[in-house]
Amino acid sequence: MITILGAGLGGLVLARILHIHGMDVRIFESDASPSARHQGGMLDMHVETGQMALEAAGLYEQFRKIVLEEGDAFRVLDKAGRVHLAEAGNDLRPEVERGQLRTMLIASLPEGIIRWGHRATAVAAAADGAYIVSFANGLSVRTDVLIGADGAWSKVRPLLTDSEPVYTGLSFAEVRLTAVSARSPEQAEIVGAGTMMALSERKGILAHREPDDKICSYAAFEAPAEWSAEVMSKAGGVLEDVLARFGDWDRSLVDLIAGSEAPLIARPLFALPVGHRWGRRAGVTLIGDAAHLMSPFAGEGANLAMRDGADLAQAILAHDDIEVALASYEAAMFPRSESAAAESAAGLEMCFNDRTPGPVVEFFLGMRPEPAVPISDG
Ligand SMILES: Cc1cc2nc3c(=O)[nH]c(=O)nc-3n(C[C@H](O)[C@H](O)[C@H](O)COP(=O)(O)OP(=O)(O)OC[C@H]3O[C@@H](n4cnc5c(N)ncnc54)[C@H](O)[C@@H]3O)c2cc1C
Repeated sequence: MITILGAGLGGLVLARILHIHGMDVRIFESDASPSARHQGGMLDMHVETGQMALEAAGLYEQFRKIVLEEGDAFRVLDKAGRVHLAEAGNDLRPEVERGQLRTMLIASLPEGIIRWGHRATAVAAAADGAYIVSFANGLSVRTDVLIGADGAWSKVRPLLTDSEPVYTGLSFAEVRLTAVSARSPEQAEIVGAGTMMALSERKGILAHREPDDKICSYAAFEAPAEWSAEVMSKAGGVLEDVLARFGDWDRSLVDLIAGSEAPLIARPLFALPVGHRWGRRAGVTLIGDAAHLMSPFAGEGANLAMRDGADLAQAILAHDDIEVALASYEAAMFPRSESAAAESAAGLEMCFNDRTPGPVVEFFLGMRPEPAVPISDG
């Protein structure tokens, strides 16, 4: 029996692949139900990670049905609302709503595999090498193979390493606008069909189109680590605190935040050190954010979590000896996540410096496919 802690995208992909190949697997998840919590915004699925994992899980065709058409269009603006770059999508990295993707993965598992309402409070090693996971609901389980897929604040990670996530200095405030065609047509236009990043002076207003005529926006700014707790405790004062930071930004951009119909969600960004790794310990490993939390500025976190889940499942299926499987998974995962974490750290620096949005525009122009070289007939 493989025991997974956490039913995020990584844990779900791992469970799905093991299950369809006939292995016994169970997931313990802290949320009380699949719909207990809003899952966050859009994700673009990369070919070699997210899409590869969906193929391995036998869910690629189903995934295509929930892709947001043209959602991979991309615009870069500045604080005055001037457009510096507007790219149509090319479907190489299709966009999907995270909640829909998670729902699809949950539905792909038989009932009973995911044990909802099990928030792990501690994980201890028993004298015989097994692991005991204790839950807030008073229950506990014993397992010989434990996979930590429990995200940024993993309870499994301390078995392997003393490293803890460090605050990047940047916080997001997330809001959502609904029925935008009728209620916020100016915002619908400024965001376009996909993603819009307005960047200036180390700050940003970022927005994604979502299915069902919604827009998810983030105000992004540097703030002390305590900001999230402080601001969220002020109830009514949250929106004013955020808007005050964008006083001289174009109104059409600010209204992406000011038009919020629900309380802001504070998302302070944390990261584990680039190149985070640990020594092998029998019967336990980590996938996804638990292993390599990084800022979202390379758009890799969820993609890597899914690829980790797929790789680990395939390693477990390929090797009779679980230790060989865990070691071979980690040997491939460490360098892959190190290079993505370095890219994410560089992406954050590129988006939030005194010259933005210039470096971001140059970066995306550099990513354009090479123009065809004219063939000389001479
Ligand atoms: C604002 C923002 C934007 C992002 N945008 C992108 C993007 O565009 N593309 C991209 O690829 N990535 C993006 N990411 C990163 C992405 O969200 C994460 O990397 C991804 O969710 C990691 O998946 P995971 O399965 O490892 O962990 P999670 O998604 O965090 O899932 C962990 C699961 O474990 C459960 N859990 C946690 N603690 C416990 C516990 N103690 N006991 C039991 N269960 C527990 C949680 O409830 C959750 O269901 C973004 C992140 C942020 C903050």
